[in-house]
Amino acid sequence: MSVYLDYNASAPIDSRVVDFMMDIYKNNIGNADSRTHDYGDRARVIVENARKQVGVLLGVPPEDVFFTSGATESNNIAIQGLREYAEKTGKKHIITTSIEHKAVLETAKHMSEHGYRVDFVSPDRTGRVSADEIIELIDDDTLLVSIMHVNNETGVIQPVKEIESRLADQDVLFHIDATQSCGKLVEEIREIPYDMLSFSSHKMYGPQGIGALVLRRKNYKLPPVKSIMYGGQQEHGISPGTIPVALVGGFGKACELAVAEYKEDEANNSAIKDMLIKMLNESGIKYRINGSLEYSISSTLNIQIEGVSSEALMLSSKQYCGISNGSACTSSNYSPSYVLVAMGMSEESVDQSIRLSWGRNTDVEILKDNFEKLLGVAKELV
Ligand code: PMP
Repeated sequence: MSVYLDYNASAPIDSRVVDFMMDIYKNNIGNADSRTHDYGDRARVIVENARKQVGVLLGVPPEDVFFTSGATESNNIAIQGLREYAEKTGKKHIITTSIEHKAVLETAKHMSEHGYRVDFVSPDRTGRVSADEIIELIDDDTLLVSIMHVNNETGVIQPVKEIESRLADQDVLFHIDATQSCGKLVEEIREIPYDMLSFSSHKMYGPQGIGALVLRRKNYKLPPVKSIMYGGQQEHGISPGTIPVALVGGFGKACELAVAEYKEDEANNSAIKDMLIKMLNESGIKYRINGSLEYSISSTLNIQIEGVSSEALMLSSKQYCGISNGSACTSSNYSPSYVLVAMGMSEESVDQSIRLSWGRNTDVEILKDNFEKLLGVAKELV
């Protein structure tokens, strides 16, 4: 059986989360906003408990957590939701990076087509953007700095902590897309006093279709974000519509498990990364790691195998390993990874690059056997 190595696209849901959700589906009917019966009250308890669990994971008060359908929606609200404030203050400059997920990149591009000045900072060859470069771009019109914590293709950790500390005395909002770091870089996230943070439950063993936008209150005031949709007062009007109780409950459960197990997950993921690198080194294959190894999370490896087309490798080794050559959101159009291109890699090197990502429940022995077979296929393709 093939081993799943595409956790960055979507991590398998934890069976404990499934059990918890099944119980909600079976035993809790109703709308968490219904005030006229006990069913609504019980649904509301599940939602508010989940809000607490998300808050504990992130180290923020539960009332700063707003449920959304996922990081795409959260990112859109964090950026587009600032329009009214930008009009009022005249601050219409946004700083972001060229390696963001499309949910930020395309939203920022949209804003640039509607009167906003947007700077897209590119990383160096290590896949990291420079905090200096970002800080130097700030001027009186700067509304927002929006940076991802961990890049989904390379696993490279961006200097969000440094950027935030240098933004502290500026009147600039700071948004982090932490979709690939939540549940992993738990302590680092807890230490950063960002204004807004987005993430999705399904990257951390929760269900798909649910996520959060965290809006940190400063002096009891929320960041000046307004809804980009209309239709209800749920989630403070930030994300209107019926709250999906079982998804929210499952998301909360996934956060609770992350708090209890992130250290163990980290140790297992690191051991897998070391094993994969050792196997690559011993295989005799010529390969390069794309992006800094020092500043990368323990569950992602993006490599270029010299002389081997990633498309050919993925197709020929699909019975062994489920891997990818970029973000699932762009993989239907076969364009080369814009992240690796932004890092200055040649088109040929990008074409030879694959991403492996793993996590909780990855079976080391099955992985070892299957990765060995993938390396065998790669050797034949050189
Ligand atoms: N940001 C990053 C960094 C991601 O990796 C993803 C998912 N690949 C998203 C945002 C979007 O998440 P979702 O598709 O769950 O909305």
